[in-house]
Amino acid sequence: MTEVITQERCEERFDLYRNDFEGNLPWPVFETKKTFNFIGQFFYVPIKKGKKNTIKNATIIFSEYFDFTDDRVFDSTLVHEMIHYYMKMYNIKDNDDHGDKFLSYAKYFNEKYNLNVKPLSYVGKGKDIERAEGTSKLKWIWALAKSIF
Ligand SMILES: [Zn+2]
Repeated sequence: MTEVITQERCEERFDLYRNDFEGNLPWPVFETKKTFNFIGQFFYVPIKKGKKNTIKNATIIFSEYFDFTDDRVFDSTLVHEMIHYYMKMYNIKDNDDHGDKFLSYAKYFNEKYNLNVKPLSYVGKGKDIERAEGTSKLKWIWALAKSIF
């Protein structure tokens, strides 16, 4: 964890939004990672419980290279990953990674909490980074992320 992304901050915000999901959303592990590949990521291990598909080892990871000082940016990223968590946990099918179901949950949180949850919580790699020639990776990622949130 970092000075900005603390365990306390993660728990406090998670605890606020988890009440909006039906059923129980158990505590995930919160981690940070030095990566340019994503802003936030949801990690899990799929398991079968009887006939049901569910998950274990739920982990929400934040990029240490991204500026999470702003609460709205942090919360929007957290809720984005929480929607993935919820849908995987309860095996809720969608027509895409960020399909209609995902977007309807995002809309709900954006309206209720004035967040900016969007389908994109990663900032691209490979080609996109090459395109950023002349800008330092860090500056570029920051500028692009600003346009996402
Ligand atoms: Zn996503």
